[in-house]
Amino acid sequence: MDNALRRGGGRRLRCAPVITRLSHLFLRTLRDDPADAEVPSHKLLVRAGYVRRIAPGVYSWLPLGLKVLRKIEDVVREEMNGIGAQEISLPALLPRDPYETTNRWTEYGDALFRLQDRKGADYLLGPTHEELFALTVKGEYNSYKDLPVALYQIQTKYRDEERPRAGILRGREFIMKDSYSFDLDEDGLKASYNAHREAYQRIFDRLGVKYVIVAATSGAMGGSASEEFLADSPVGEDTYVICRESGYAANVEAVITPAPEAQPIEGRPEAVVHDTPHTPTIATLVEWANAAGIAEQYGRPVTAADTLKNVMVKLRHPDGKTEIVGIGIPGDREVDDKRLGASIEPAEVELLTEADFAANPFLVKGYIGPKALQENGIRYLVDPRVVTGTSWITGADSEGKHVVGLLAGRDFTPDGTIEAAEVRDGDPSPDGRGTLVSARGIEIGHIFQLGYKYTDAFEVDVLGENGKPVRLIMGSYGVGISRMVAVIAEQQHDEKGLRWPAEIAPFDVHVVIANKDEAARAGAEDVVSGLHARGMDVLFDDRTASPGVKFKDAELLGMPWVLVIGRGWAEGKVELRNRFTGEAEEIPADSAVETVVAKIRG
Ligand code: ATP
Ligand code: MG
Repeated sequence: MDNALRRGGGRRLRCAPVITRLSHLFLRTLRDDPADAEVPSHKLLVRAGYVRRIAPGVYSWLPLGLKVLRKIEDVVREEMNGIGAQEISLPALLPRDPYETTNRWTEYGDALFRLQDRKGADYLLGPTHEELFALTVKGEYNSYKDLPVALYQIQTKYRDEERPRAGILRGREFIMKDSYSFDLDEDGLKASYNAHREAYQRIFDRLGVKYVIVAATSGAMGGSASEEFLADSPVGEDTYVICRESGYAANVEAVITPAPEAQPIEGRPEAVVHDTPHTPTIATLVEWANAAGIAEQYGRPVTAADTLKNVMVKLRHPDGKTEIVGIGIPGDREVDDKRLGASIEPAEVELLTEADFAANPFLVKGYIGPKALQENGIRYLVDPRVVTGTSWITGADSEGKHVVGLLAGRDFTPDGTIEAAEVRDGDPSPDGRGTLVSARGIEIGHIFQLGYKYTDAFEVDVLGENGKPVRLIMGSYGVGISRMVAVIAEQQHDEKGLRWPAEIAPFDVHVVIANKDEAARAGAEDVVSGLHARGMDVLFDDRTASPGVKFKDAELLGMPWVLVIGRGWAEGKVELRNRFTGEAEEIPADSAVETVVAKIRG
């Protein structure tokens, strides 16, 4: 198929758009960056007149921005239809009831926009639609023969984000493609999930986005119950780690620490308690060890990695009960709160209070060791590096005392391992094929094997093949459509302006008249008509402004090709500029239309 047709040009040929003249286009470009803008995409999209701010996290789409948005929607729509998903559209204004049933009316907290109608009934503006899709399927289907089904919508969502940010990147009103799959069993769910995963890869590849797929939670390792698509970007709010050698990527929370080999215990020296006055910190302890001759025993200087740091936390379990837990991690690492939080979910972490220490006098601050914890029935969880036979310098449970040579598996037996220590650049990749480095990304998509949470809540059953009811199993999948406009602008710009990939550029080509000469003007009109007749979507700068102003605008607006009809016209030449490479070439005016069409169709 001809490229233009494949890119949605078919519609164009049937109903070619009118030629868009800059003299008439509803557009004002701005010379200065908006005062509230920090990231390049925000500055450029506002300066280039794509979007305008109405309130924090609430934006209007002007003609150029709306064209990009619609093109992204079209790509997403094509790929969703391609996997057999069917488009529907649910309201954004929703009654409270279904969200009460799943407890999300409360759980969503301050991020939910809640409102009341004139009769005092509660409503919300939908932040995501699992409830309503589950109810919709329940309402229509009642036989296993109807399944599987995948439904989607491209619709406006509302979230009262704590920090709306970077223009349309994190809005309070934004557009999402959300889809939901319903299957009879887990294998069906996996198939629906994989179809979405592949469709998302095709979408982001077509949009020219650089991205990685990361396991969202550690439960997802191998099984992949939830994955996020993160676009590479220094302004991203998500940190993830990547192994450049193998391509492994994961959210920091999902990284599983490779455990070293266990070591023999036979014949290892006894643990010895030492007086170590004034060594409540890892740094002071290491200094003591090197000064006290421990380094000689080790045959090398002692480092913080030889020490075992015992961090006390209080867990609040969902039933409201609290539990004090000890976490042992190598002394050269800090606890990463996000990793700890993900590991102990659904419990929550609290800090110990002075009262907790007073109630548990065996907890000697700065000198806590595994022994007292275990003797007093406190659960002791260790970093996966603390395997049997590893030797540690750690607290001896009394003021000013540490123990050297404490062997895991001999002198203490942990109650389990926990992923709580920070992940650092240079750590080995869990796949054993290189090392990890950290990177930043923007979440552009999320795919999630939800399971039965919503179908249980609403009892979404169909009659099975054997006449018994079957509860449906559900997946949910989101793409940030409006966010994608900002993400592409973020990845594809230079100091002069935007730089759209052809698939979603508002126009195929931007034609600039850079000459007052009447013949050139008339010639430009002919070239533009020629391009239009060939199905090209043309932005025509027919204004009387100076060439300098027009060139600057062309760079700011970011169409992939700029055709300049200027001084060379008299000699039968025009200039074709590639916004992507910055290259310019002179081409004969009489074959300009053919040359440009050929370039655009690649
Ligand atoms: P984030 O971590 O960025 O807040 P999320 O985990 O809340 O995202 P989901 O609920 O999975 O996101 O929503 C699906 C997709 O919708 C996200 O991958 C993202 O692309 C987009 N999205 C989410 N929140 C916003 C927002 N406030 N503004 C624009 N797009 C958003
Ligand atoms: Mg969010």
